[in-house]
Amino acid sequence: MINDLQNIVNPLLEWFAENKSDFSWRKDRLPYHVWISEIMLQQTRIEAVKRYYTRFISELPDIRSLSEVSDEKLLKLWEGLGYYSRARNLKKSAQTIMQSYNGVFPNTYSEIIKLSGIGEYTAGAIASICFNEKVTAVDGNVLRVVARLCGSKENVLLPEVKKDTQEKLQKILPEQSGNFNEALMELGEKICVAKGTPLCQKCPLRDYCTAFKDNLTAEIPVRIKPLKRKKEEKTIFLLTDLQGNIAVEKRPQNGLLSGMYQFPNTENFHTTEQLQQILTERQISFTKITFQKNAKHIFTHIEWHMKSYVVTVKEQSKNFLWVSKAELSEKYPLPTAFRQFLV
Ligand code: SF4
Repeated sequence: MINDLQNIVNPLLEWFAENKSDFSWRKDRLPYHVWISEIMLQQTRIEAVKRYYTRFISELPDIRSLSEVSDEKLLKLWEGLGYYSRARNLKKSAQTIMQSYNGVFPNTYSEIIKLSGIGEYTAGAIASICFNEKVTAVDGNVLRVVARLCGSKENVLLPEVKKDTQEKLQKILPEQSGNFNEALMELGEKICVAKGTPLCQKCPLRDYCTAFKDNLTAEIPVRIKPLKRKKEEKTIFLLTDLQGNIAVEKRPQNGLLSGMYQFPNTENFHTTEQLQQILTERQISFTKITFQKNAKHIFTHIEWHMKSYVVTVKEQSKNFLWVSKAELSEKYPLPTAFRQFLV
């Protein structure tokens, strides 16, 4: 694992100076041009963007014209590019720039990122390329290149890995931060490619690359899509008798948290009338129901969203095990999902 990425800076900049593509939006580095091109490139291939970009800029040459364009014309110019919210956000941001920035594109990362449709990557790209601000611009290409350089098998789709990559790069950003960011992206597009085998023999960074050295380029980057978690609502009952004993029950032997203990609970949230009805149906005689709190617990595949109620009972129901708080903490395994309701 190479911790010191510092070595890549000069060879990368030298390679970029000789090999950079001659895109029309690179010619003048005007924020308006870089902005439009970066938004178009977000979900579209470079070849397709070239045509759209030229037509867009000739029809809407500046921020003012974009801010005043009719929606019909704007969407017509965008037709075929897809993800039309990108076009609407461009117009919205152009209007913001006209109203709040006197028509001048904001020149710092912290202001740029406030504009509609602009995230960390795009703000970093514009701030570094147009204003040489020392900020990173980490897209999929950059994540891949850095993961291979460092020989990292961490999942590049995780936010914490992106953050770590930003931090690593922030430490080595040279004065020409825009060139550096663009160079990394372009190296990812042309040499350290996503599909097929990277062209390591042509790569200016191979002397510093762990994946190349250890023959790991086919395994890195690791990309595992985070699972979509199912959301479940639960109502938790803290049934408490007059001595302060609390009702628990054992979870089923199979499935989530199997064999552990839990507080009685039901699926979904309920109205006060429904709560009373549920308790009556379960033959729980009570004197008081008090809402306790909202809580959340996240498992790998499921999120529980919970509302808890403290219910003071007249007598212990035989359907549950009644334990003191001390017994509960000493003897009975109670998962964190439920432990948070103990006061
Ligand atoms: S040497 Fe190969 S794997 Fe390493 S950065 Fe260059 S192209 Fe990517």
